[in-house]
Amino acid sequence: MDDFYRENILDHYKYPRYKGHLENPDIKFRDVNPTCGDDITFELKIEDDRVTDVAFNGHGCAISMASASMLAEELMGKSLDEVKAMDKRFVLDLLGIPIGPVRLKCALLPLKVVKAGVWGLDAWQREEED
Ligand code: ZN
Repeated sequence: MDDFYRENILDHYKYPRYKGHLENPDIKFRDVNPTCGDDITFELKIEDDRVTDVAFNGHGCAISMASASMLAEELMGKSLDEVKAMDKRFVLDLLGIPIGPVRLKCALLPLKVVKAGVWGLDAWQREEED
């Protein structure tokens, strides 16, 4: 059971989906996780409150990169309401393995970047405190 998820994480890490840049993104946001050195930028195209294109770039550990790649896949085509509904649980379920407190920031950085980019850092901080 765990093996499937571990292999999936490694696969996303080695062959990241949607890694790169967009031309003229509507939203571009970068954040870092200094404790691990993860550095992630997300770029989004938004049309009619829907994500029509997505790309991420940066570098970091396997957990942060796999989380970004999986999240990018999920974001594609979603409405902003659906993106807003993606929470910590959603990301942890995508990864599917137990994530300890130190790695939690790695796992959640991509979601933080997306949500802070769309709604501002305040919105994310309120969410993180829940
Ligand atoms: Zn990390």
